[in-house]
Amino acid sequence: MNCEQVRELLGKKERADLGFYPTPFYKLERLSRHLGVNLFIKREDFSGKSLFGGNKIRKLEYLLGDAKRQGAEYIFTYGATQSNHAMQTVEACRREGLKPVLYLLAIVEPDEEDLKGNLLLDKIMGAEVHIIKMNPGESEAEADERMYRLGKEHIARLEAEGHKCYDIPIGGASIVGTAGFIGGFVELKEQLDEMGLHVDYLFHANGTGSTMAGLVAGKRLLGSDIRIVSVDVSCHGGDYKRSRVQLGNDTLRWLGAEPVLREEDFDIDASYYLPGYEIPSEGGTEAIKMMAEKEGLLLDPVYSGKGFAGLIDYVRSGKVAPGSNVVFLHTGGATALFAEKEILGKLW
Ligand SMILES: *Cc1c(COP(=O)(O)O)cnc(C)c1O
Repeated sequence: MNCEQVRELLGKKERADLGFYPTPFYKLERLSRHLGVNLFIKREDFSGKSLFGGNKIRKLEYLLGDAKRQGAEYIFTYGATQSNHAMQTVEACRREGLKPVLYLLAIVEPDEEDLKGNLLLDKIMGAEVHIIKMNPGESEAEADERMYRLGKEHIARLEAEGHKCYDIPIGGASIVGTAGFIGGFVELKEQLDEMGLHVDYLFHANGTGSTMAGLVAGKRLLGSDIRIVSVDVSCHGGDYKRSRVQLGNDTLRWLGAEPVLREEDFDIDASYYLPGYEIPSEGGTEAIKMMAEKEGLLLDPVYSGKGFAGLIDYVRSGKVAPGSNVVFLHTGGATALFAEKEILGKLW
């Protein structure tokens, strides 16, 4: 298919207008010289209509389009207390006149008298926030389960009273949300075609894997040979890859396209997330400093810093050959620079 044909498939779905698109795409001259590759950046951090965008906006365009089509009044979603996805969901809901309800896990416990980062923004925009504190001895997975259960029970209560709710999974990682990054890949391909540029690699930070599933589905639809490297920012279980292949294929089916994705289409690297989710790493800290000092651009310690650390390491180790054309998808998240200091690490 060509870009126009994929846009036509996407155009059949309801979509809320939440972002400024296309997001900017350009070369980072200083960092290119520093690293010895041609480094380009795609500014998904620049997507939202508020000051703080990110990669969730593209997903939310389709998610809130779907919610409005169903006549929803309340939008529920989940994440950590410093979730970028939760904050972008709140801003998108406010723009669309929907009521946001958040269930947030306190991996790092917030100071209720001195709110920071995304949680502060959630509160400023008046979201209904339920903070789930970790119980002693409880694993993160168990606490997550409890959080989802409380959210579902809340939805059941509201629906029993006649209120329509729309439930968005963590990270907006549903079939509907994933369609957003099929659109994102098409947009990037159009920008590359316009510049007559052939790109070898696309690097991005990977969490729930729906940005990845959308990008890879877009790549296969368009028959592109860009190598997409998805740099994990958290630990994933054994069937993660298979479930992401399925998410991509289900999204293709939803759009009326062939479910052509296979495990070989996904290139996930889990070498850069340690010590753990929301815990700063040396590589991530170096990456944030490098981007800030060479280009005056801001990455974050939880996602984009670790994603860019992966890119730097691939270049230094020669996995990416000198002179390659490399795109970094900046997925946003710089609000974490104003989060709790345990999340931030030592950046100065
Ligand atoms: C959510 C997020 C990601 C990961 O996106 P997924 O689609 O969940 O994999 C990457 N970077 C930032 C800044 C994010 O907020």
